[in-house]
Amino acid sequence: MSRNIYKADLHTHTVASGHATGTIEEMADAAKKAGLEIYGITDHAVTMPGTCSMEYFEDMVENKKQFEGIDVLYGVELNIIDYDGTVDMDNSILKKMDVVIASIHAGIGYEPGYIDENTAAVIGAIRNPYINIIGHPDDGNIPLNYSAVIEGAINNNTIIEINNNSLTPGCWRGNTRENIRRILELCKKNDYPVLIDSDAHCVENVGRHVESMKFLKENEFPRELILNYYPERLKKFLNKYK
Ligand SMILES: [Zn+2]
Ligand SMILES: [Zn+2]
Repeated sequence: MSRNIYKADLHTHTVASGHATGTIEEMADAAKKAGLEIYGITDHAVTMPGTCSMEYFEDMVENKKQFEGIDVLYGVELNIIDYDGTVDMDNSILKKMDVVIASIHAGIGYEPGYIDENTAAVIGAIRNPYINIIGHPDDGNIPLNYSAVIEGAINNNTIIEINNNSLTPGCWRGNTRENIRRILELCKKNDYPVLIDSDAHCVENVGRHVESMKFLKENEFPRELILNYYPERLKKFLNKYK
């Protein structure tokens, strides 16, 4: 029996991120074993201390190794670095990537501001046509106006991620359950889907969505709005298939 009942996981890290442990081959193999059909490798962009260089990403987009039996997507987890939503890589390389995530990492090129400033930062990233997913927008230390964020996401065809690490007990981000509950409530009201991502940093966590699944159930979030079940619908949001 597989612990994974979903078909997609688009946010994971390899050794190239510096603080993660699996190679591309090991992670893709774990994804296949977890029963995934579509799997994303999104190492940290250059502002994150210890991650890979710009040259690494340039080489990656030119040499996307494919694996039998699974659709492996190559991308990045960008850092949002100001209140306009500027990110730390140019669109000239982002457009060659299959999937692009943008996240705020407090203290990594970004100082959390007032709610309006953080919201403007996230919406600025949402408006970038090459950014497909907003990663873990659930940290209470970076307060957001969720109505405005969801509205921006809907208008720009951008995915709001439900990050499994944020729902794992002991998570360092603040107030995540309350914030994710608010995201789910707004998405449900607007009939707008979400994507669950593992944000795995090791092979054991690839496709690990169990905490998120439990939380979505508790909050009566409809299965029809969980993109992990519907790869064809998910593809409509991603650079690779646009
Ligand atoms: Zn992140
Ligand atoms: Zn990540």
